[in-house]
Amino acid sequence: MSECIFCKIVAGKIPSRKVYEDDDMFAFHDINPQAPVHFMIVPKRHVDSLAAVGDPDVPVLGRMMAKAGRLAAEQGLTDGFRTIVNTGRVGRQDVYHLHIHILGGKEPLGRMMPSDGS
Ligand code: AMP
Ligand code: ZN
Repeated sequence: MSECIFCKIVAGKIPSRKVYEDDDMFAFHDINPQAPVHFMIVPKRHVDSLAAVGDPDVPVLGRMMAKAGRLAAEQGLTDGFRTIVNTGRVGRQDVYHLHIHILGGKEPLGRMMPSDGS
């Protein structure tokens, strides 16, 4: 069994608040939400990061992006949302299983990048 925490969530070995699941992807709420609504979509097949995506992953990634808006709407984000894919050291990625963050709420979010760069 992979030591990857998101592989364990996908396999049901670690509990999560599931948003959606199909053959290719799994979506669940972030345990440490950064907005009133904050969930992630991950491919079921382990891929380290956006930097490690190969040709076989392309169709699933496309489906994940296409699903993002529909899942956001189902979660009440009918007036917009933000998607984030942190990648690698510079992108401050913490979990090395590719994931798309989806964040939103009733009010506009803060700026995409803090002006002081922190
Ligand atoms: P990133 O920094 O882009 O790699 O984001 C990883 C995210 O995973 C963080 O927002 C964490 O709060 C979230 N996270 C870590 N462990 C869990 C877990 N067991 N269930 C749900 N979300 C988690
Ligand atoms: Zn994994």
